[in-house]
Amino acid sequence: MAYRLPTREQAARRLKQLLRRGSRTAASERSERLMLMLTRSCELRCSYCWVALSEEHYGRFNPGRASPGTPSGDMSPETLRAAVDLLMRSDRPALELQAFGGEPLRVWPTLRGGLDYALQHPERGDREIELQLTTNGMGLTDGLLEELSHLPVIVQLSVDGGDRHSRFRRAHLVDDEGRRRQDAVAGLVASGVRHFLNTTLVPAAAEEAPERYAWAQEQGLDAVQINYATGMAWSEPQRLAYLEGLAQALELSRQPRSPRLFNWGHEADPVPLCADLIVDVDGSLTHTGALFHEARFPDLGSVYARGHLAEGASLDSRLDLLELYLATSTAYPPSTEKGSILLENMLLGASCDLLVRQLAPR
Ligand code: SF4
Repeated sequence: MAYRLPTREQAARRLKQLLRRGSRTAASERSERLMLMLTRSCELRCSYCWVALSEEHYGRFNPGRASPGTPSGDMSPETLRAAVDLLMRSDRPALELQAFGGEPLRVWPTLRGGLDYALQHPERGDREIELQLTTNGMGLTDGLLEELSHLPVIVQLSVDGGDRHSRFRRAHLVDDEGRRRQDAVAGLVASGVRHFLNTTLVPAAAEEAPERYAWAQEQGLDAVQINYATGMAWSEPQRLAYLEGLAQALELSRQPRSPRLFNWGHEADPVPLCADLIVDVDGSLTHTGALFHEARFPDLGSVYARGHLAEGASLDSRLDLLELYLATSTAYPPSTEKGSILLENMLLGASCDLLVRQLAPR
């Protein structure tokens, strides 16, 4: 199908429309989602990751009190239960917990306890609840997959592809990242556990969307989400290369028996703005963009903060898209180097939105 890549000017106009429209990602009419930052420990150190990772306090529960600076250690079971209580206060008919880190499987016993607590929660009623487990796959053993197969879990496998595609993932605590990655993919496919591949393209790999999609298809994975790395500068040729690759991947996904490509859903907010809220290891509630960019854009922390679980933080305090944009611009004005990176990231998101709308079946 013929298409035209959106220009930067068209993207700027679309971004304005999206900001006026507000957000639809975090709180749809039907479902409420709460994210969890369970630990700052991870086996990897990917070059596009801006989470402030540290192994120093891994294995120690954070006391769950608001404190200045980046909270350390792992989320305690008490804080996780308070986060679940917060989610249960929503009146939406479907509920979703999304586990992040760091690497959430490094604290699986705590996470499993929190999921059991949510499943048996008196305020859940008969509402659907699902755990979305974002993992790098390093701890995805056959035994764990067997356990997951009996739970309402969808695995978001953050793997970039084969060895060449994974050159921006850096091993840190493991010396056999490639073998573990491949085992995780094969095990997940064989397990029957619901899943999708979450692959991230950096500017230096801007054109790789179709080959990563094809790789996922070769592996037999069910579905794919293609992301662009945020917090990094994208030049105009790289923006266009990413869009061209995305268009090709969208075309590939039209073939029968192809993995579902979640990028067809063009309702996503322009990253890095994201209306989703996340509970940090210490019980602080914030917009996800603060944590996912904290190592490079620390000033987002104060403008995205939404309180603390121990002090009555509420999901109703969520900022809408325009408020997030204004908060972002306050912390990092677009006239500054870091502010212009964030603005260009938003324009890339708006470009993707335009492209998908253009290609979507009518
Ligand atoms: S696996 Fe995820 S949390 Fe770990 S370094 Fe990579 S992007 Fe960051």
